[in-house]
Formats: sequence, structure tokens, C-alpha cells
Amino acid sequence: MKTFLCKTCNKKFEAVGVKIDWNDPTYGPSSKFTASCPCNGEDCEEYRPLSSKKEELVSSGSSCGTGGCSCGR
Ligand SMILES: [Zn+2]
Repeated sequence: MKTFLCKTCNKKFEAVGVKIDWNDPTYGPSSKFTASCPCNGEDCEEYRPLSSKKEELVSSGSSCGTGGCSCGR
């Protein structure tokens, strides 16, 4: 299981994920994991706490971590 972050509803969740491979014009062959958000089905990228301070700031304003998520509007 990996941890993913839904940027739409600021919710972290665990999922097996799906590996995506692509060729980046700058970095060459790359891969990442994505998973569907449990509350809106959106494709979310793997959550990496050390690589993005921006995500840490966003996650402090969570509005759907207690089960009452309505972000699928
Ligand atoms: Zn969501």
C-alpha cells in the first residue's frame, strides 16, 4: 500500500495504486503511481512528504477527512 493525496479535497488515503510510465522530455523515462480518490474518483498522485512543502500547507485545511466529504460535486 502507498499513500496518495487528493488535491481536490486535501485528503490522504492508502491504495495499491497503478504504475504509470512515461517519457519526460527533460528527465527521460520516468514512472509514478496514481490511484483513484475514494471520495471523488479522481486520479491522484502518490503523496511524498519530503518532496513538496506545498502539499503540506494544503493538507492543513482538510475539509473531508472525517467522512462527510462532499468534494464530488
Ligand atoms: Zn477527493
